[in-house]
Amino acid sequence: MAEKVIIIGSGPAGLTAAIYAARANLNPLMFEGSQAGGQLMLTTEVENFPGFPDGILGPDLMDQMRKQAERFDTRIETVDVTRVDFSSRPFKVWVGADEHHAEAVIISTGASARWLDLPGEERLRGRGVSACATCDGFFFRDRAIVVVGGGDSAMEEAMFLTKFASKVTIIHRRDQFRASAIMARRALEHPKIEVVWDTVVEEMYGGDELTGIRMRNVKTDMVSEMATDGLFVAIGHTPNTEIFQGHLDMDAVGYLTLRGDGSTATSVDGVFAAGDVADSTYRQAVTAAGTGCQAAIDVERWLDRE
Ligand code: NAP
Repeated sequence: MAEKVIIIGSGPAGLTAAIYAARANLNPLMFEGSQAGGQLMLTTEVENFPGFPDGILGPDLMDQMRKQAERFDTRIETVDVTRVDFSSRPFKVWVGADEHHAEAVIISTGASARWLDLPGEERLRGRGVSACATCDGFFFRDRAIVVVGGGDSAMEEAMFLTKFASKVTIIHRRDQFRASAIMARRALEHPKIEVVWDTVVEEMYGGDELTGIRMRNVKTDMVSEMATDGLFVAIGHTPNTEIFQGHLDMDAVGYLTLRGDGSTATSVDGVFAAGDVADSTYRQAVTAAGTGCQAAIDVERWLDRE
């Protein structure tokens, strides 16, 4: 028998969709994925999610959302969806060889920050190394920090970080930013921002916390070191949409495109998307949760109409 709704992905978007869908008696089945909880599992203190005046650790917040979804009998399976077929109804969703059927699907597989894959980076994540200035910038008050990247994200992160940091150094691998002219100019004109051009970071080091980086000028090959308390990687995000390629419309980067009618409907009737997987702009836990709620309500209304 087909499920009423299958939710793929378990960050704030998926879990909020589950809470709403479960409370609407849709008895949702969620495939939470092997990296359950999404990007918040990689952060430390979350201070901008409403309702937690003293802040909450990212993994604790996800744990609470998961418990809330389970309280209303969401069935959660810790597996990765490997294949989908949305060409006919009921929709088909595979986990390995197991085939599942659903009348509606909510996709909330999120996006993954791209990392530099350098020595020290993984070990120091959450200990000075971050991919989210909005999440972690506050912890770097009066410190000298580094942003890596040359796109709009890097400019935005650098500008945001000037509110806290004593100095922000943008390290970019070329001699020109990819960012839009206006954002690049804002960053270049900011008194707290300095740019190191034509340079790649080659190592991040420190004991319990990041203390410095080694970098190399790609034109002169000169290697140098810089002491820093924080390094923000801002080289873009990759939406987790590989398995949906050829099944749903997406933009050039791979973000799912919504129909633009203000709903969470994707290009296939009955398939909805919530959270970062369809949002390259806001990318916040609270906006993801908001669209998760919308997606569940959209599914409920869509099933009623059908
Ligand atoms: P992006 O435009 O793809 O820029 C990524 C930047 O990271 C590029 O400068 C790239 O260098 C650099 N980079 C990539 N891989 C690297 C590596 N391994 N080592 C060192 N540097 C690396 O990504 P984005 O800045 O996240 O922006 C994505 C999209 O969102 C864009 O369309 C952007 O306009 C939009 N966006 C808009 C806003 C806004 O308007 N407020 C804010 C953020 C993002 P190269 O330049 O050498 O390739």
